[in-house]
Amino acid sequence: MAAHRWVYLFRDGNAQQRDLLGGKGANLAEMTNVGLPVPPGFTVTTEACNAYFEDGASLPEGLWEQVLDGLADIERQMGRTFGSPDRPLLVSVRSGAKFSMPGMMDTILNLGLNDVTVRGLAAEADERFAYDCYRRLIQMFAKVVLDVNADLFEDVIDEHKRALGVRNDFELPADDLRRMVAEFKEIVRREAGQDFPDDPHDQLRAAIIAVFESWNNRRAIDYRNANNIPHNLGTAVNVQAMVYGNMGPDCATGVAFTRNPSTGEKRLFGEYLTNAQGEDVVAGVRTPQPIEQMADDPHVGPAYQQLQEIAQRLEQHYRDMQDLEFTIQNGKLYMLQTRTGKRTGAAAVKIAVDMVKEGLISKEEAVQRVLPSQLDQLLHPTIDPGHTGEVLANGLPASPGAATGQVVFDADEAKALAEDGHDVILVRLETSPEDFHGMLAARAVLTARGGMTSHAAVVARGMGKPAVVGCTALQVDYDRQQITINGKVIPKGDYITIDGSTGAVMLGKVPTIEPQVHGDLATLLGWADEIRKLGVRANADTPEDAAKARELGAQGIGLCRTEHMFFQGDRIWAVREMIIATTEEERRAALAKLEPMQREDFAGIFRAMDGFPVTIRTLDPPLHEFLPHTDAEIEELARTMSIDPEIVKSKVVALREANPMLGHRGCRLGITAPEITEMQARAIFGAALDVAAEGVDVRPEIMIPLVGDVEELRLQREVVDRVAQEMFAKAGRSIPYLVGTMIELPRAALLADKIAEQAEFFSFGTNDLTQTTLGLSRDDSGRFLPYYVEHGIFKNDPFQVLDREGVGELIRIAVERGRKTRPDIKLGICGEHGGDPSSVEFCHQAGLDYVSASPFRVPIARLAAAQAALEQSERDV
Ligand code: PEP
Ligand code: MG
Repeated sequence: MAAHRWVYLFRDGNAQQRDLLGGKGANLAEMTNVGLPVPPGFTVTTEACNAYFEDGASLPEGLWEQVLDGLADIERQMGRTFGSPDRPLLVSVRSGAKFSMPGMMDTILNLGLNDVTVRGLAAEADERFAYDCYRRLIQMFAKVVLDVNADLFEDVIDEHKRALGVRNDFELPADDLRRMVAEFKEIVRREAGQDFPDDPHDQLRAAIIAVFESWNNRRAIDYRNANNIPHNLGTAVNVQAMVYGNMGPDCATGVAFTRNPSTGEKRLFGEYLTNAQGEDVVAGVRTPQPIEQMADDPHVGPAYQQLQEIAQRLEQHYRDMQDLEFTIQNGKLYMLQTRTGKRTGAAAVKIAVDMVKEGLISKEEAVQRVLPSQLDQLLHPTIDPGHTGEVLANGLPASPGAATGQVVFDADEAKALAEDGHDVILVRLETSPEDFHGMLAARAVLTARGGMTSHAAVVARGMGKPAVVGCTALQVDYDRQQITINGKVIPKGDYITIDGSTGAVMLGKVPTIEPQVHGDLATLLGWADEIRKLGVRANADTPEDAAKARELGAQGIGLCRTEHMFFQGDRIWAVREMIIATTEEERRAALAKLEPMQREDFAGIFRAMDGFPVTIRTLDPPLHEFLPHTDAEIEELARTMSIDPEIVKSKVVALREANPMLGHRGCRLGITAPEITEMQARAIFGAALDVAAEGVDVRPEIMIPLVGDVEELRLQREVVDRVAQEMFAKAGRSIPYLVGTMIELPRAALLADKIAEQAEFFSFGTNDLTQTTLGLSRDDSGRFLPYYVEHGIFKNDPFQVLDREGVGELIRIAVERGRKTRPDIKLGICGEHGGDPSSVEFCHQAGLDYVSASPFRVPIARLAAAQAALEQSERDV
């Protein structure tokens, strides 16, 4: 029986074998096979690594013999012999897992050197070079294989430099390097209790084992945990002939991208250093040169021409932008690595669109090449990457984008200062609906408390305004009008900068870059629209937001939170009158003041969404949120209503709830006071009739929140239908409309078949559904949820990424039961998850009709929906 194959020569592998050969090995094989100049070598497979661990840390049978065969092949190709005193072959041993884990595992260079072979190398190049390679080998070997403290070697190097009065390693002469080799060996003997192995084969065997072992070192495990890489993949080991970029002026080393990774521009981009090794670039000892300067260098100019050709070939071959590593030894170019290059959002979009135009990839591939989350970078200002600002603390990145402004604590003051032309950042312990106007006026919002679906987070995202919330290091002192962050006191009026994409809070004015929404993004999203099956709507509460959402591609409004309209301008006073009212008559009088305002808002939204559906939700939040809090406010309300302030006060106390999220909110308001729903329905149908008369195609969908029982929906529906009939009769015209409900309580999901008797559509309110399914407060969980996520107890914050197992299961049940009663029931989602790519994918799989996201997340949802559809079709074939 033939022995299992553990080793593949580069020429025997290909790019598809990433599982077996690791990413690096598969690409080295591929490059070799397309005829590129790759130093010869072989790959020990990931299977060998796994077998090594399964066999109790011993090399599997047959592996070593295959390594020796591989080595013989390299020797033949290089015309050199491993361990020979004359023209010795030296090799590198590098790790390479299926997924790139940069710097996490180990590498050893210059294997094959000992006191004899070093002289052979010196004869070919020069002594200094040879002994420098040798001392590097001992250093790396001692650290990686023998676990000797690397500082001990650095101390010796420093002593030599001090004695000679030089600053840089490369200034050390051959004599010193030779002596260092002896001293290094002594350190190994002392620290590891064994000699540095002279036998090159012993070196190689130990190095291969050490790379296997490095799969399970602490940082590799942490990296895999952080990046969701399975722990059972194992690493491959690449053994390759050494080539040198530091053997003289006709040698160089460098890295290059086939296109610019920040802008996407189609031009070779990178850096190089002549007469240097890769480490010199990393260590920053010398400043690398821009790659195009190679053209003018007589020594490496010809290799540059070849590099350009190879870069183009590799890009054509892999059909994606590549990140290359190369070395030039004595004028000859060697390719050491190619892999798909990382890129910014802007570059990702441009490269994808350009490659379609170049005929390199299909539109479908282009759509799959851009991460939806990368679009965030394109749609909001970002911190200038070259900034030197000081990060004071980090909170939750609640709403993307960066902004600079003066610290202000009060919404009114924020508004006043903004009107005077100041840039302000509203800083609060937490925000409430009363801060709305201040948030609107501010450049950004920063809170000390609250999670990703706290008021500040939701409202800021809706406005497309940067926000950092739940910044626990932030102490807000309203009395002294200052904040303290990690001991730093910042008074009102001082500048801070926040980055809502990362959660960073920074001192002073940090430069930002404006978003670039260019034609390529529109092109790419247009392709996404052709592919996706899910509709994409927006959550918007004002005509301006609706218009913005439409501009960003929304096909309707999935949620208009009417309570948000109650806070604009002076409306709050009318709302307060409504709440304080003790008789129905009084309440109706207050509602009558609100009706024309609501009607006007609805009309504006209908106009902005001409031809698209608009889902308007009846009043949802707890009434006490609207109440006056300070004595001054109570007195003012009492004055306006001509009643005793004490009555107002007692009303405020009476309306206080211990658990408002589970209290008198949602449809419970409209059920106990149907005149509220009645007024809202009148405003909706009035507006619809008005704008229809202007020729606008109006499609209202009235949505009842927080329904847990069909009877609740029936009662509210009755009010809506009655008002509609009355208004249509009066106008002599009618408007087609739908009535539906939010599914945001587990009971509603479970009883969806019953509820569907009264509902023409369901919209999953996954903010509340998450809160109620997990028993996790939307407002308070920010205090401990980050701990859960950091410690892997929860994989994600369930308010950001839909909990498929729990909440998702309820959605699936509701979809199935709802459709059983009403096969054509319209199904959507309007919780914050509607703009999260993973959740959008779930919605596609669950068979929803649309997702609804904050306006600025509409493009992200469009792309995510298309990707979900493509993955589905891949599964179907
Ligand atoms: C929800 O609960 O998911 C929802 C959209 O409603 P709100 O966030 O306004 O409670
Ligand atoms: Mg809700």
